Amino acid sequence: MRQTITSWGNLGPVDHDVETPGFRDEAAPLMAALTTRVGTVLAHGLGRSYGDSALNGQGGLLITRRLDRCHAFDHADGVLRADAGLSLAELHAITVPRGWFVAVTPGTKFVTLGGAVANDVHGKNHHVAGTFGHHVRALGLRRSDGTLRICAPDSDPDLFHATIGGLGLTGLIEWVEIQLQPITSSDMEVENIRFDHVDRFFDLAAESLDWPYTVAWVDCLSQGASLGRGVFSRGRHAAAGPLAAKAGGPRLAVPLTPPFSLLNGPTLRAFNAAYYNRPGATFAGRCHFDGFFYPLDGVHHWNRVYGPKGFYQYQCVVPPHVARDAVRDLLTRIAASGTGSCLVVLKNFGDRPPAGLMSFPMPGTTLALDFPNHGTRTLDLLADLDRVVDAAGGRLYPAKDARMPSRLFQAGYPALAAFKRHIDPAFMSDFWRRMGQAPHGTDQAGSEQA
Ligand SMILES: Cc1cc2nc3c(=O)[nH]c(=O)nc-3n(C[C@H](O)[C@H](O)[C@H](O)COP(=O)(O)OP(=O)(O)OC[C@H]3O[C@@H](n4cnc5c(N)ncnc54)[C@H](O)[C@@H]3O)c2cc1C
Repeated sequence: MRQTITSWGNLGPVDHDVETPGFRDEAAPLMAALTTRVGTVLAHGLGRSYGDSALNGQGGLLITRRLDRCHAFDHADGVLRADAGLSLAELHAITVPRGWFVAVTPGTKFVTLGGAVANDVHGKNHHVAGTFGHHVRALGLRRSDGTLRICAPDSDPDLFHATIGGLGLTGLIEWVEIQLQPITSSDMEVENIRFDHVDRFFDLAAESLDWPYTVAWVDCLSQGASLGRGVFSRGRHAAAGPLAAKAGGPRLAVPLTPPFSLLNGPTLRAFNAAYYNRPGATFAGRCHFDGFFYPLDGVHHWNRVYGPKGFYQYQCVVPPHVARDAVRDLLTRIAASGTGSCLVVLKNFGDRPPAGLMSFPMPGTTLALDFPNHGTRTLDLLADLDRVVDAAGGRLYPAKDARMPSRLFQAGYPALAAFKRHIDPAFMSDFWRRMGQAPHGTDQAGSEQA
């Protein structure tokens, strides 16, 4: 079926040939039908990737949303196996009342297990727990030749590590088995600390290593003595309390896309000042995990506020020895440009070895923020930021990207050549095409006929 699909950044609709299997048994034949009809295929979860990594323009898209069955959940040891289309929100509904929580979560619960594996997503606890992929025990990968590969750290390990963070290019992940972490409450104990300069962020991060979750919001327009001022948040699961899968309260919505971006210089400046000075910026108390991990999920379609031209997200990581200087440099350039957004995240990653060949996180500091799409002006600024990241020896996150130059991608991902050996020849994405990458052949070892 022809359908236009838009990524989370709303940078424009892309035409696809789409199939949406309702059962796992339907996935392989529909994948084969798509590749016969249009030559290439890509799995698509909840479409929370900002750029083009979940799109395959003019090719086939296999939407996994209806593959959402839980196969097994061991309440005693917290191991869950489910279809790859199950979302984290649906997973919580099953596991939280029984005292188990996902070991790593991104900043939205509206992602599928398959999407979380394919981008090897990270959360606020990277410094203690690594990435989502570190907690994957096994996965079932359907290749376009019809074989089902059962991959785990000790079974077909090369394909396993290529699929974790493999951008959906190694095949269709049909199911995932993960290790959850025990919790005794759905509440979080949280401390928010206001800081007046980005240098203080690094001190607070160093002082907070015994907190499992840390992250900072930054005012991207502040300059001079207030450069990178913000609010540092740290949290842990509360020791006792209710086990509620969802916070109560209404969910707001942006009902339609306004004709222009609601986030311009004056509104952004006013929002940032109000957010920085709000009483909650210095807070110690409890809240449901929804409020701590997923503040944006409370507003349905928040991505519409950027207007019909959409927005770019920019997420980079720079190594520890240059992080202070590089982050200062990035924030100085952003503040001088007068553009950016109220959604700016700064976080230190830990030094756990990556779970996947192409995993984004590496030791250092990551900065993520949105930019309304003002055409060349925005692209020029992002190219300027690229130069800082490149000189620092950093990298950008493909899940957030819609424009990075191929050269920067290649420089940032040294395992690229090893990864290419595992790409399924029928799988392709707009991101991969844009990077000018072609499959280098396939690894057929260890196939298991389903
Ligand atoms: C508000 C918000 C906050 C976010 N916060 C974070 C964060 O803190 N950390 C972080 O790491 N990311 C974050 N992200 C990005 C998001 O977590 C990732 O883009 C995630 O991969 C999206 O999952 P999805 O199910 O929507 O997958 P999609 O966006 O639909 O697809 C993502 C990739 O996964 C592949 N894929 C999906 N399903 C399968 C499958 N079954 N088999 C094979 N490949 C598959 C696709 O081909 C594509 O390459 C955030 C996004 C938003 C919108």
